[in-house]
Amino acid sequence: MKETTYAECCDSVRDKKLSTVEEAVASAVGLCSTISETEDVALPEAAGRVSFGDTISLFSLPIHEHSAVDGFALGGSGRRPFRIVGRLIAGDSVKGGRIGENEAVRIMTGAPTPSGTKAVVMQEHATVSDGAVTPTFDVPEGDNIRRAGEDVKANDILVRGGTRFDARHTALLTASGYQRVCVVRKVRVAVLSTGNELRDTGVGMGPGHIFDTNRPMLKTLLASNAVETTDLGIIRDDRDLIAQTLKEAARDHDMIVTSGGVSVGEEDHLKSAVVQAGGAIENWRMAIKPGKPVALGRIGKAVYLGLPGNPLACFVDFLLLGRPILEELCGAMRRDPLVQHARAAFSWKRRPGRQEFFPCNIVGSTEEGLPLLEKTGRAGSARLMPLIEADGLGVVGPKCAEVAPGSPLRFYPFRADMGL
Ligand code: AMP
Ligand code: MG
Repeated sequence: MKETTYAECCDSVRDKKLSTVEEAVASAVGLCSTISETEDVALPEAAGRVSFGDTISLFSLPIHEHSAVDGFALGGSGRRPFRIVGRLIAGDSVKGGRIGENEAVRIMTGAPTPSGTKAVVMQEHATVSDGAVTPTFDVPEGDNIRRAGEDVKANDILVRGGTRFDARHTALLTASGYQRVCVVRKVRVAVLSTGNELRDTGVGMGPGHIFDTNRPMLKTLLASNAVETTDLGIIRDDRDLIAQTLKEAARDHDMIVTSGGVSVGEEDHLKSAVVQAGGAIENWRMAIKPGKPVALGRIGKAVYLGLPGNPLACFVDFLLLGRPILEELCGAMRRDPLVQHARAAFSWKRRPGRQEFFPCNIVGSTEEGLPLLEKTGRAGSARLMPLIEADGLGVVGPKCAEVAPGSPLRFYPFRADMGL
């Protein structure tokens, strides 16, 4: 990481040098050291946690060969009668039993196939009379038999290190006999809001006050099994107080997220407070709208993310930068953001220069099946209502001066794992 002094930060403001989102994400990720401490967690509770190291299969799946249907295990082929010599249901053991070429066993789904089984015929495709079963067609060899190991072989990697556990991993690992898994310890994140005007709901408001919206919003965005959030409350616009709070938070957190005070106003103290707390600011102006003023840096071992105060800008910047930081800290294999191609259903003239994110909803689809997007409400980084009505964020590139119906757009759909 290239550390920058506060004076140099001021110079870069004068330069009006803006970074692209990609540069900011790369720089944010570069600030993180992956957590190496681990925990053993029982499987259902591991959902949302990130696996540490690969998990290897101890035996094959299926563990034994068995029937895929209710029917008859046949010892040979052909549309001829097979003498029924036994009955097997799920949970039975074949106990070394073997069927001959002219024999069959009545068998249920999941029951082990006796050795000598050439195929299983579904009961719907067979007739039974005089203690013998006759298939109604030539049953191909191997039909309806699930072979041992056809899904997983012993020593296969079941789940790679860096995987975020979900119901699929719980299923595969439980089938493979695992009760507990090794995961990266929770990421410790401290959240605070700055601003003299902010009050917590329930505390009451005076003239000039507003309710602190960002802290509860960020806590909701951070609500994950893999994150432990510390709420540091609202801090007044007081550089010494902010610096002291940041310094203390840096001792036992992996990440500090603040909102407000990262612009260039007289009461915007965050960047200088980070430096006062012994930290450094790396990158703090992105060529995006909303959310241009953003501070990235480190205080001790903690990554620092300073988000803008306007709630929509705060929300967008957290999605763009906060998520990759969290994934990097817990060693999660990076997932490409689920960006979709889309088309505009609206007209819009804009000033080029910055990439722009705007809440929008899907109002239809094109002939090729791409989503058609309409902007929700009027844009503005302080507005929240358009977010509520939106299905996701539409994006146009920095050079875009005009959007017409049918123009290509990118679209970040809101997903459940965004806390949305
Ligand atoms: P700032 O980034 O501190 O200059 O704040 C920009 C705007 O966002 C101002 O109108 C603030 O009052 C507002 N704002 C700052 N922090 C919050 C917050 N936590 N919740 C709601 N609005 C905020
Ligand atoms: Mg402020």
